[in-house]
Amino acid sequence: MLHLIKMKKFYLIILFFSFKILCHCQNLGTVEGIVFDSIEKRGIAFVNVYIPKIRTGSFTDTTGRFKIENLKLGEYEIKVSLIGYGRPRVREIEIYQDSTTFIQVNLAQCEHDYFGQPSCPICDKTDEAIPIVYGEPTKSKLKKAKKGKIWLGGDTISNCDPHWYCKRDKINF
Ligand SMILES: [Zn+2]
Repeated sequence: MLHLIKMKKFYLIILFFSFKILCHCQNLGTVEGIVFDSIEKRGIAFVNVYIPKIRTGSFTDTTGRFKIENLKLGEYEIKVSLIGYGRPRVREIEIYQDSTTFIQVNLAQCEHDYFGQPSCPICDKTDEAIPIVYGEPTKSKLKKAKKGKIWLGGDTISNCDPHWYCKRDKINF
């Protein structure tokens, strides 16, 4: 009988410690999501999903899904990118205690889209090509634009905005 009571105590202690360990885990959360081709209506595989703040990332599986676990609670920027699918998309996410934040990111294929600097489709050169900057320009961006170092593209309209402007041929590409 005494033996049995001791055993019970022993189990209680184990239970207590495992509970403590579980409590520690609850300060973490998960982000899960799908990257979706909005034209072809399907998930996109091998998309890079990256959280710059903590230098952690993942890739989507063949159904376009991804999951990043064990994230500390708080706000993060999550960056989704794949060559040929427009500029990287940035989403703000918040990680809550012991729960999963779900996001869907829609991408569209863009014939004009490159991460590098391609050549101008007219003159076939890169020497007169300057990057296009979208959105409300800051003072320094306005200065750069005046000097001809960047081209202001205005507000973003589509997912397939061109990246470069050729000063020689005056076209976006
Ligand atoms: Zn050109």
